[in-house]
Amino acid sequence: MEWNLLDECKDARRIGIGGHIRPDGDCVGACLSMCMYLKKCLPQAQVKVFLEKPADIFHEIKGFEEIDSEFGEEAPFDVFFVLDCGEDRLGNARKYFPAAKKRINIDHHVTNTGCGDLNYIRPEVGSTCELVYDLIDCEKLDRELAMALYIGIIHDTGIFQYSNTTPATMEKGAKLIGYGFDFPRLIQETFYQKTYIQSNIMGRALLESIRFLDGRCIVSCMDRKTMQFYDAEPEDLDGIVNQLRNIKGIDCAIFMYQTDVLEYKVSLRTSEKVNAAEVAAFFGGGGHVRAAGCTMRGTFHDCVNNLAVHIEKQLENA
Ligand code: AMP
Ligand code: MN
Ligand code: MN
Repeated sequence: MEWNLLDECKDARRIGIGGHIRPDGDCVGACLSMCMYLKKCLPQAQVKVFLEKPADIFHEIKGFEEIDSEFGEEAPFDVFFVLDCGEDRLGNARKYFPAAKKRINIDHHVTNTGCGDLNYIRPEVGSTCELVYDLIDCEKLDRELAMALYIGIIHDTGIFQYSNTTPATMEKGAKLIGYGFDFPRLIQETFYQKTYIQSNIMGRALLESIRFLDGRCIVSCMDRKTMQFYDAEPEDLDGIVNQLRNIKGIDCAIFMYQTDVLEYKVSLRTSEKVNAAEVAAFFGGGGHVRAAGCTMRGTFHDCVNNLAVHIEKQLENA
């Protein structure tokens, strides 16, 4: 490591932290744990987290209530952190990026080339929270900080299940639960638990799914009308694509939901036979080898046909 986190921030008065749009557990965990750590180590600094309003399931993480989702005018930050994404997916927080005196990008997306003056991009690591863990002084860990990091790690590794889980991930998980938070309840309430409506939507998405490419690929789509019928937000659709991926024989699962007229947010989950990041990157998105996403324009059928060309090519070469 060529730079030290606290050295880089030691003279800063105002520190900003931003993460990606539609923040997930890793993003919320990374932003709030970084905020807690910096406040603890640099009491003279003002530290502020800017994120689109995260799902309520994360409300127990310390600092959740202080997240700024208004994105008002701010004087230039001395240091601005971009966590779990690059500049392009900062959403409204992007406006603080150009004026910041020092920009630090910490991320694990293989498609991120590093947007900061200082970068710590490690695609081989399962979560940004793991990277934050690596960068902080473990002596400063406490129960709240540990819980925030743990939430990020479990969400991006599917509770230590996905192939991005390493012995080091497990060791960090072990150290973190040593701080004594109620991890079985956290896993249940932030990862597995669904509201009745969310379960209805999941059921509908599974029921309406279509297999193609000799049954190796599956797609399900939710249009705006259906989302309005259930009064569903994008966060209510989390987990659907993973459930599709669990179906026997599937090498590539696609879930898409309509974001505008002729526009869809697409999520991909794949087996080792398909590189999801490559497919998503072709359509201007990105992510990881087994989990990636993009936004596509066109009709549902156009989008699926365009995706199928790339997926089929990879399946043939596998
Ligand atoms: P999702 O399917 O939205 O859950 O995303 C799967 C993974 O790909 C997550 O790690 C996302 O952060 C990442 N991802 C999704 N959409 C994009 C995008 N447009 N650009 C880069 N990464 C993305
Ligand atoms: Mn994320
Ligand atoms: Mn992540």
